[in-house]
Amino acid sequence: MTTVAELFALQETDLAIDSARQRLEEVASRLHDPEDLVSLREEVSHRRKELLDLRHRQREMEWEVEELRRKAKAVEDKLYGGTVRNPKELQDLQADLDSLKRQLARKEDALLELMLQGDELEATLHEREALLARREEEWQAEHASLLAQKESLEGELAVLQERRAQQAGRINGSALRLYQELRGRRQGKAVARVERGLCGGCRISLPTSLLQQARSSDALVQCTSCERILYVG
Ligand SMILES: [Zn+2]
Repeated sequence: MTTVAELFALQETDLAIDSARQRLEEVASRLHDPEDLVSLREEVSHRRKELLDLRHRQREMEWEVEELRRKAKAVEDKLYGGTVRNPKELQDLQADLDSLKRQLARKEDALLELMLQGDELEATLHEREALLARREEEWQAEHASLLAQKESLEGELAVLQERRAQQAGRINGSALRLYQELRGRRQGKAVARVERGLCGGCRISLPTSLLQQARSSDALVQCTSCERILYVG
């Protein structure tokens, strides 16, 4: 014999299962890396690459400056070395030297600019790296806590499912089918407790005869309005 009390108890378990499943889904949805962290990782990696490129350009420019200095020195040595006496040739050498010195000055300015840019980029990068490290640490702790919550909810769910199987096993097939069907149609609540003559599911005032029947009958009595199985507990 199925008593409505057994169905009500089954419903309590089912509602607890629904709630545990919902919390589990919520926890599972938060397990992936948060967006702000992902974009911070990308930003830091982009800045690192940018700095590497810049330092590479800087080294290239340093070589170019060295090369210009070497050339200028060679022209200067020739100009003042005393081996060249021809005035036209000396004039050309002087012009070469002037041109090289102008190029050198421009290149040195550009190099200095690049070095300053690199230092600025490096300072920002270190700042963002420190922030990233803090966020990674925070997320690691949060992730561990979420995993622990997930594990505990899974354990809770297993206990509830075991209980449900035992409860459902004691209820006859037709009552169980009616219960399942109503649960599907009535937002998970197939059994409504009667409170002061009202159906706890839809709040309608129930006829006295129906209440009488629900109180005394072994058969399941349903609300005339929402069809839920009435439980006078
Ligand atoms: Zn009702």
